[in-house]
Amino acid sequence: MEIRQVVNTVFKSCSYVIVHEGKSWLVDCGDVDRILPMIDGPLCGVLLTHAHFDHIYGLNVLAAMFPKALVYTTRAGKEELLSDKLNFSKYYGEPFVLDDTEVVRLVEDGDEVPLFDGIAARAVFTPGHSPSCVTWVIGDALFTGDSFIPGVKTVTNVPHSDKEQAAVSEVLIRDLAVGRRVYAGHASESESMI
Ligand SMILES: [Zn+2]
Repeated sequence: MEIRQVVNTVFKSCSYVIVHEGKSWLVDCGDVDRILPMIDGPLCGVLLTHAHFDHIYGLNVLAAMFPKALVYTTRAGKEELLSDKLNFSKYYGEPFVLDDTEVVRLVEDGDEVPLFDGIAARAVFTPGHSPSCVTWVIGDALFTGDSFIPGVKTVTNVPHSDKEQAAVSEVLIRDLAVGRRVYAGHASESESMI
């Protein structure tokens, strides 16, 4: 399993292409033109760490190219995908809502999404930064989104964030991170992140 990082133009959010045996999965979706060259074979689906706009804005373009790719998120994430207020895109001049909700699959805390033969992604709910936050555990890789960015204080001053929840989630994530590599939701030199 190979993990390829894409740093997107909006707030240097990060997408990750996970490649294994000629197939790919994506974690979060920013600039499709940057993501596409990293994809090998069919794109099977997208795992969302949360649905703030800087992590989802490429989804409609991506869906047009890969109509079979499913999008995995939480119930709160689906609400954010469908509201330019909840995903904040409205406030940044680029209103975004997901066009086709048929592709959305809801996950519960602890659910496993099969990715490749013998490899699954486990959803661990880590709310706080946003109610929709999920940390994805895939083998020895941990995709934390904005719930935990090493060396950066978790952002909890945006609407619907919850500082106490974020602190509880961080403890959980630090525990999960033992023996695993963390793939976070922003390049750490980014000045703004939501
Ligand atoms: Zn965010």
